[in-house]
Amino acid sequence: MILIFLGAPGAGKGTQSELIAKEFSIPQISTGDILRNEVALVTDLGMKAKAYMDNGELVPDDIIIQIIEKRIKNGDTKNGFILDGFPRTIKQAEELDSMLQKNNLSISKVVFIDVQDEVIIERLSGRRVCPSCNAVYHIKYNPPKVENICDKCGSKLIQRSDDHEDVIKRRLQTYKENTSPLVEYYANSMRLIKISGEKDIMDIFHEILDELLNIPK
Ligand code: AMP
Repeated sequence: MILIFLGAPGAGKGTQSELIAKEFSIPQISTGDILRNEVALVTDLGMKAKAYMDNGELVPDDIIIQIIEKRIKNGDTKNGFILDGFPRTIKQAEELDSMLQKNNLSISKVVFIDVQDEVIIERLSGRRVCPSCNAVYHIKYNPPKVENICDKCGSKLIQRSDDHEDVIKRRLQTYKENTSPLVEYYANSMRLIKISGEKDIMDIFHEILDELLNIPK
C-alpha cells in the first residue's frame, strides 16, 4: 500500500500518518523530518535547505525529488510506505507518478486532511517537538506530563524555528499557492479521501482507517 498524506502544515499529517504506518507496519516517510535531520547534522544538503525552511518556503523540487528517490529505494519500503509532506508541488507529484510507474507501482490513496487556517495557526504556534525522538506535543491540547520534557525519551522539548506566527503565515501562503492544487490533481484520478482534521485525533484515525480498509485489493 502506497499512501500520501496531504494537507496544510499543522493539519495533522504527521500524527495521522504515524498512526496509520504503525497499523499497517509500513514506514512513514516525512521529507520535513529528513530535512530537519540533515540540518541538525550540518550536511551540505541541510545547509542548502535551511534558509528555505526558516523562511517558510519550499525547498527546490530537484533536492526533494533526489531525497525521495533515495529513500524509496530502501528495503523497508517493499510492502508499501506513507509519504508525509511529499509531494508539495505539481512537479513533485508528476515526478512521483513516473518514479512509481517505472517500478510498476501506483498510489493506493491520497488522504487529504482539511483544517481551517485559524485552527492551524493556534495549533502550530502551541506545538512543541522532541528533537531526539520527533514526538509532538501541544502546550494546551496535548501537553507533556512534565512541562517541556518529552514523555517518551526525557529530552527537552523545543519550538520548531518555523512554528513562529510570522513563518506560519508564510507557510500557509506557500501551501495555498503550491500545494493546494494537488487536491484537484489527485481528485481527478479518484485517489482522494477527504477527511476533516478538526476532530479528536483517534476519531480522525478511525475514519481514515475505515476508508483505507475499503480499498479494493
Ligand atoms: P514539514 O515538517 O512537512 O512542515 O516541512 C518543514 C519544511 O521543510 C517545509 O516548510 C519546507 O521548507 C520543507 N519541505 C518539507 N517537505 C518538502 C517538500 N516536499 N517540498 C519542498 N519543501 C519541503
